[in-house]
Amino acid sequence: MTEVRFPDVPADLADVVVRHGRAVAAGENETVLADFRPDRVGQLLASARPPDRMNASEVVAIEPGPGPLYSAYIRYSGAGGDEAVFRSRWIDIDGTWLVTQVRNVPDTPPRPPFAEPTDDGSDTPHWEGLRRGELRIQHCPRCDEWIWSPRPICPSCHHDELEWPSVDPAGTVYAWTRTWQPFHPSVSGHLPYVVVTVELPAAGNRRVVGVLLDGDGADVRIGQQVKAEFDDAADAADYPLLRWRLS
Ligand SMILES: [Zn+2]
Repeated sequence: MTEVRFPDVPADLADVVVRHGRAVAAGENETVLADFRPDRVGQLLASARPPDRMNASEVVAIEPGPGPLYSAYIRYSGAGGDEAVFRSRWIDIDGTWLVTQVRNVPDTPPRPPFAEPTDDGSDTPHWEGLRRGELRIQHCPRCDEWIWSPRPICPSCHHDELEWPSVDPAGTVYAWTRTWQPFHPSVSGHLPYVVVTVELPAAGNRRVVGVLLDGDGADVRIGQQVKAEFDDAADAADYPLLRWRLS
């Protein structure tokens, strides 16, 4: 019956995907692991976040691409009514369909729990600026040096009364990386994500780091223009995060 539901994919793949979804929902870990491409197990484990008390799966779609891969969308549900959709990408290796990528969709950026001012308060004006939708970078009014990361005195002229002007929140990609590994529990469910180092022309080409929004599948290039977005936390006591978007 599966070949009727998914006409654009090989029938044996559709059968494997349906079986895989059931094994994931049932917590049959040995079966699930056997479906993973062996050299990707380290990145596939714990990279996607399932609903609490997961107990059911439904294959929503399977479609060809990108390239030689096939993309399967499986909705998992939990006993408490939570749902999560995983997009798994499948590759044929020597006649066996294996998972080579998996992620939660839609693509949402991770929020690390340590995103807050440092204990010494040296960067508090920057974080308070984010609350007002402003990008504030430290600046020395005496010698016109832009300073990042923040310091108690100007590293150029040792002036100790530094200011925090709001600068144009736009720049260019100086460097970027796509992270596939669940290095911290807070990134589970948000992998892979793209981190960009952004050069700020309005702040003496000082560079700041942030997550690129909608980075899934994005063709990121050094030198591309990006604009900042201020991503409010769910809890108003937490600080917003500086995000970036290709412009
Ligand atoms: Zn100075």
